[in-house]
Amino acid sequence: MAMLSLTIKEASLALREGRISPIELCRKCLNRIKKTQHLNAYITVIEEQALAQAHEAETRLAKGSPKGLLDGIPFAVKDNFSTQNIKTTCGSRMLKDYTPPFNATVVQKLLDQGAVLVGKTNMDEFAMGSGSTDGAFGPVRNPWGYAAPYRENTGLDPDSDWVVTGGSSGGSAAAVASLTSYLALGSDTGGSTRNPGALCGVVALKPTYGLVSRHGLIPLVNSLDVPGIMTRSVGDAAVVLDVLQGVDVKDSTTIQPQSSLAQLPEDFDISTLRVGIPKEYHAPGLSEETLEQWSRVADMFERAGARVEQVSLPHTQHSIVCYYVLCCAEVASNMARFDGLEYGHRSAMDSSTETMYATSRHEGFNDVVRGRILSGNYFLLKQSYEHYFLKAQKVRRLITEDFRHVFNSGVDVLLTPTTLSDSARYSDFTQEDNRTRSQQEDVFTQPANMAGLPAVSVPTALSRRGLPIGLQLIAPARQDKRLLSVAQWIEQRVGFPSISDFETPSEDSERCQKTKREHTI
Ligand code: GLN
Repeated sequence: MAMLSLTIKEASLALREGRISPIELCRKCLNRIKKTQHLNAYITVIEEQALAQAHEAETRLAKGSPKGLLDGIPFAVKDNFSTQNIKTTCGSRMLKDYTPPFNATVVQKLLDQGAVLVGKTNMDEFAMGSGSTDGAFGPVRNPWGYAAPYRENTGLDPDSDWVVTGGSSGGSAAAVASLTSYLALGSDTGGSTRNPGALCGVVALKPTYGLVSRHGLIPLVNSLDVPGIMTRSVGDAAVVLDVLQGVDVKDSTTIQPQSSLAQLPEDFDISTLRVGIPKEYHAPGLSEETLEQWSRVADMFERAGARVEQVSLPHTQHSIVCYYVLCCAEVASNMARFDGLEYGHRSAMDSSTETMYATSRHEGFNDVVRGRILSGNYFLLKQSYEHYFLKAQKVRRLITEDFRHVFNSGVDVLLTPTTLSDSARYSDFTQEDNRTRSQQEDVFTQPANMAGLPAVSVPTALSRRGLPIGLQLIAPARQDKRLLSVAQWIEQRVGFPSISDFETPSEDSERCQKTKREHTI
């Protein structure tokens, strides 16, 4: 397990120095995936191909000619990124047997570096959700709910009373947190990388919109979607972003790469930094413990000489409402491609073309997706377009202007909570007010998507129950390197533990025998 809890940088060095082998590393990850099956983090595990890739990496490393820093490093990918000849389900019945003929640009870039793909991770259907409880392959369980601090502090039996991961990229967050892969890709449209990242205690980065190609990411909201990066250290997120960034002819929104991203300054000077605390982020439902963490890190900045000041982002409070109008409108048009003809599920009820369309979509999508399609079509009706869609576009512009105003006044970075609280028990999360709670959860993350800004969640502490709490930093567009440098400064000072500090391998294997995968469709 010690090998699995290394950072990418450490593992890469050990691989290049021949202290560990890519095959051994790959086998360990695949074994650990088996041992942590109860988390339901993976939809597809790619064993044979991963071992073949690891063999190739071994040959390159033995010759002293690795492809790059990621050569031989196991990684996982959320199941809404296309992977050539490997199932890409989007967590939905609609695509349960779909195998794309190509790789998403981000997947290809990682493979080109020699990274080893071990699996596709579980998620909310079509990335709509904040819990990873709404996918066709069953909910994902948070590994921290099984770790000693939570068990001892709450006295709960995690097998019957487990904790959610957040979402929608909960499988990716659980994969990185439970040490089954060194990095995982998520997608982030309103917070789907940062939210589960915070709740599972991993670093979760949403880069500047356009810095990383979306080609091959099955769209949710094209104008907001960004591939996200999850790792166990900020330095690792920078290494991965450096590999993924840059112009892609297959995605016209992509922008020029940033220079020397992989190497963050070890001695970043915080004393000249201006850190903004948005007053509107003291939102209803913010837990006392999250607030404590927020103040603690703000104080750390102040003590180190940074200027910490209150700022105002008055329109961000309308972000959620605005998001759901824009999201549903784009979903309504994006989902039109799933008609039972070209891809995905096709109903047997095909007495007429219309019946086939309607029943394929009814059988293929869950009620969250169907609800959004319905709302989106309503918002786009001639008589409602101006009242809903155009108004939401205008509010989006105002939110963007709020950020611009604050950053133009000289503030370098904003410090906020990532989520309202630590993670919820599944039984609480799925109460009837789940949908509302799930939407409220994104209150701190959505505005950065609206404005296309880079944002990162860094784990800062365990709550009194023993579950991770994360804080978010937001920076001006294209300042991803600065954002990560500040994040690393926090990381070096908060001393967030690794899950391996609390776990013994034998506990794992016992649990593995006791629990087996319960969710199949
Ligand atoms: N929770 C939000 C939603 O359900 C955001 C999802 C995301 O970022 N993919 O739409």
